[in-house]
Amino acid sequence: ETKKSLNFIEQIIEEDLRSTHTREDLKFRFPPEPNGYLHIGHASSICLNFGLGERYNAPVNLRFDDTNPIKEEQEFVDAIKEDVLWLGFKWAEECYASDYFQQLYDWAVELIKNGHAYVDSQTSEEIASQKGTPTEPGKNSPYRDRSAEENLQLFEQMKNGETPEKGHVLRAKIDMASPNMIMRDPVMYRCLHKSHHRTANDWMIYPLYDWAHGESDFIERVSHSFCTLEFLPHRELYNWFVEKVSKPGEMQPKQREFARRNLSHTVVSKRKLMQLVEKGFVNSWDDPRMPTISGLRRRGYTPNSIRKFADSIGVGKRENMIDVAHLEFHAREDLNMIAPRVMGVLDPVKVVITNYPEGKEELLMAENNPEDEGAGTREVPFSREIYIEREDFKESANRKFFRLTLGKEVRLKNAYIIKGEDVLKDAEGNITEIHCTYDPKSKSGSGTEESLRKVKGTLHWVSVKHALQAEIRLYDRLFSVEAPDADKEKDFTVFINPDSLKLITGYLEPSLKNAGVQDKFQFQRIGYFCVDKDSTEERPVFNRTVSLRDSWAK
Ligand code: ATP
Ligand code: MG
Ligand code: MG
Repeated sequence: ETKKSLNFIEQIIEEDLRSTHTREDLKFRFPPEPNGYLHIGHASSICLNFGLGERYNAPVNLRFDDTNPIKEEQEFVDAIKEDVLWLGFKWAEECYASDYFQQLYDWAVELIKNGHAYVDSQTSEEIASQKGTPTEPGKNSPYRDRSAEENLQLFEQMKNGETPEKGHVLRAKIDMASPNMIMRDPVMYRCLHKSHHRTANDWMIYPLYDWAHGESDFIERVSHSFCTLEFLPHRELYNWFVEKVSKPGEMQPKQREFARRNLSHTVVSKRKLMQLVEKGFVNSWDDPRMPTISGLRRRGYTPNSIRKFADSIGVGKRENMIDVAHLEFHAREDLNMIAPRVMGVLDPVKVVITNYPEGKEELLMAENNPEDEGAGTREVPFSREIYIEREDFKESANRKFFRLTLGKEVRLKNAYIIKGEDVLKDAEGNITEIHCTYDPKSKSGSGTEESLRKVKGTLHWVSVKHALQAEIRLYDRLFSVEAPDADKEKDFTVFINPDSLKLITGYLEPSLKNAGVQDKFQFQRIGYFCVDKDSTEERPVFNRTVSLRDSWAK
């Protein structure tokens, strides 16, 4: 094992292993609410929990925290499972908080019998008005001292849907003067006459997060329950509830908190991401501009790049914002190793090689990946007319321009050395054609003296008559500011980058005809691209994952 210093979460576990826990006790869980698609922030939590599972050889459950039927759907359950698997993790058990509804209900009845819970018939506004402030105690509800019999009867009516939705709530009877506001008789159940995606109409009451979460951990024998920092004040309540249902000596799960990870130039909140989808700012949850795991996948990110990113930022105790450039860095790192090199021209200008025989064509050998010897070679067709990038030519240029100019030589990748001779222009003065001559003895890899001649600059190109036309989707940051949701008063959608998607036609080497959805390539000198699921044989579609270099760093 490498001597990496332990992060604070691992230190907590190591400490517990020295005092209270055995290795066999260790068990973790990842607990998403199926109310949207997972995003890059969730990837941190997934890598943390499943990473601990790998490190300690301990089981990790996938637990759906499905206690709010209004927002939750099977579609989200399916998407979450797909994303976790795609990242390369395997859960021990697939669990649902909704599977514990009966157990939770039975425990609530116990709490009522023992004087630890009561039915409150006030409105939520009245309850809120009695909460007090952090420095002033709250006021007891007038229903706080209902008899256990009355409470049981009312609670059963709630359960059966016999009371209106806002008629009653069940509250824990703790302490309306607690310095921790969360402990001031928190609500455990509310009446909701809504159908649930798994339990249908079995339940007309639904437990709140605090009541469901720790108990679910307890039921599953989770040893360490890691959540984000906003739950720190909930820890006391978590422990209070678990203590009420556990027997002396039984292992109680431990809640510990870590900092939420935010990514720059985007939002990581399912609620906000849902708005982007519903208001049509993006096309879907898996739109390649979305910071969702499914969006990143479609964009061309690899599971490895996301895991490396999550590991590199690690876990922390303070919330911070990670520049999206870090994520892009990891995409480049990984794609550089695995993506075959190909040539594609995105902004073409035609080059005619005047001394190349008309009608002739030949196949040239090209290396697939200099980073991977096993990747082999392929053939690329060459002919008299080729496309190069418009920006790779200037009629005249200074010494630092190592591309094509008139009177100077440049190498065509995998092909010949050419020299600029002349240009044709339209009425507005735009270049329509560049005329060049080539050196027939300079073919790459031929070993001739001419082929070894040093010329500054190598250009990518595509033979005009062989070119595969494709739709190229160029993505940019979805938001034009670093922290679009920093100002809570402001609508974050006003910061949407209007140029986050640009559609162009690209001219690609014909080998790409055989590419399948999700196949990834480096378009040499441009960036990394992958085949989109919208791709058809008639109209191939490529997404730009990232450019070759970080254009934002300049
Ligand atoms: P959202 O606001 O996006 O819905 P959430 O915390 O409500 O986030 P859950 O589905 O409850 O979403 O999250 C599952 C797990 O992922 C929780 O343990 C949560 O703390 C963690 N998590 C969510 N967002 C982040 C984030 N940005 N960084 C790290 N962990 C996160
Ligand atoms: Mg949550
Ligand atoms: Mg949420």
